Amino acid sequence: MNILILNAGSSSLKYQLINMDGEQLLAKGLCERIGIEGGKITQRVGDKTYVKEQFMKSHTEGIELMLEALLDGDKGALKNMDDINAVGHRVLHGGEAFTASVLINEEVKDAIRANIPLGPLHNPANLMGIEACEKVMPSTPNVAVFDTAFHQTMPPKAYLYGVPMEYYDRLKLRRYGFHGTSHRYVSKRACEFLGLDRSKTKVITCHLGNGSSMAAVDGGKCVDTSMGLTPLEGVIMGTRSGNLDPAVVQFIANNDNMTVDQVLDMLNKKSGLMGLSGISSDMRDIDEAADSGNERAIVTRDILVAGIRKYIGSYAAVMGGVDVIVFTAGIGENNETLRPRIMEGFEYLGAKLDQEKNLKFNRKEAIISTDDSKVKVVIIPTDEEIVIARDTLAIITGKECE
Ligand code: ADP
Repeated sequence: MNILILNAGSSSLKYQLINMDGEQLLAKGLCERIGIEGGKITQRVGDKTYVKEQFMKSHTEGIELMLEALLDGDKGALKNMDDINAVGHRVLHGGEAFTASVLINEEVKDAIRANIPLGPLHNPANLMGIEACEKVMPSTPNVAVFDTAFHQTMPPKAYLYGVPMEYYDRLKLRRYGFHGTSHRYVSKRACEFLGLDRSKTKVITCHLGNGSSMAAVDGGKCVDTSMGLTPLEGVIMGTRSGNLDPAVVQFIANNDNMTVDQVLDMLNKKSGLMGLSGISSDMRDIDEAADSGNERAIVTRDILVAGIRKYIGSYAAVMGGVDVIVFTAGIGENNETLRPRIMEGFEYLGAKLDQEKNLKFNRKEAIISTDDSKVKVVIIPTDEEIVIARDTLAIITGKECE
């Protein structure tokens, strides 16, 4: 069985083809600049790279170009289009309608469409990807895997904001959370890796990348997460501000004669590591500058570390303890100097980092806490694609998703 995984953006299509017998990556590619000049597809199959520059009017033309690349006699991965048994789509916002992955039909598409106000940038693109596949591969089943689904187990005390209930009733205004596929994968994988019974384990997952979010996972179920109605809430990120007093929006808008949309754009795209440091949105650049004494870089890093530590403390409080702390994503997996800063002084919680293990085990699944640490601290590289592929396979073969 071959599963195609599709992540459709407004002008791009990222894809992977996985052979599920052995979960082997067959091909990985990217269609860029759909609908704009300079369209291009790049695909890797083993050590072969396929590149073609061509204008793509729509996502449908992008999917056609992707199939051409996958079926290429020399640099492709497939002989026949029918060798793709199903497509798993990453969909940003499932709202309250979806608590798990589903086979896509008209009703599911309507629900994804109904959630466009909650995911205005991603949901329309995700839908275009789905409809393009339906058009170009009409007999291939499509499955939707939602970024929000894993967080749907949160109780009202975690997902409601302190505003009049009318906004939840009328507009479904609430915390949804994102990166759900990653939090689900790493929290489960951490328990398997440590030989712990997931149904009895309290896990705090730290997905720290360009976008960052934290989650409290108790007994395999998400009970709280840091991102909210949109991915803007939580810790500071590459270019997102994270938490702030909502009055900041009005303050800036009034002072600088900006619209709410303009302020939100600044909070999403010009804040966080980038805005605070004035250097870069990439943590490697912040570290380099901070290590050479740049004051703004130092305070930027301190703010990130302090924000993550606050969530660890509060999620331990939410769950009445913690057994496992997981680090994942670009920063979580690779940045060996940030993890000790985050974990400093958490002995009172029963968590003690082993600095030697921490330095030794970057980028791999590993325990990085001391042998006597009551709380296990682990690195688990995230793999959202494999979750999408497994869910898709389970759904088309009539099995339960894990
Ligand atoms: P996204 O959220 O876009 O998927 P990533 O998970 O790749 O992003 O995270 C990007 C962040 O991870 C950047 O801040 C970068 O500094 C950090 N990062 C990625 N790779 C490395 C690495 N090899 N060493 C240190 N930091 C890294």
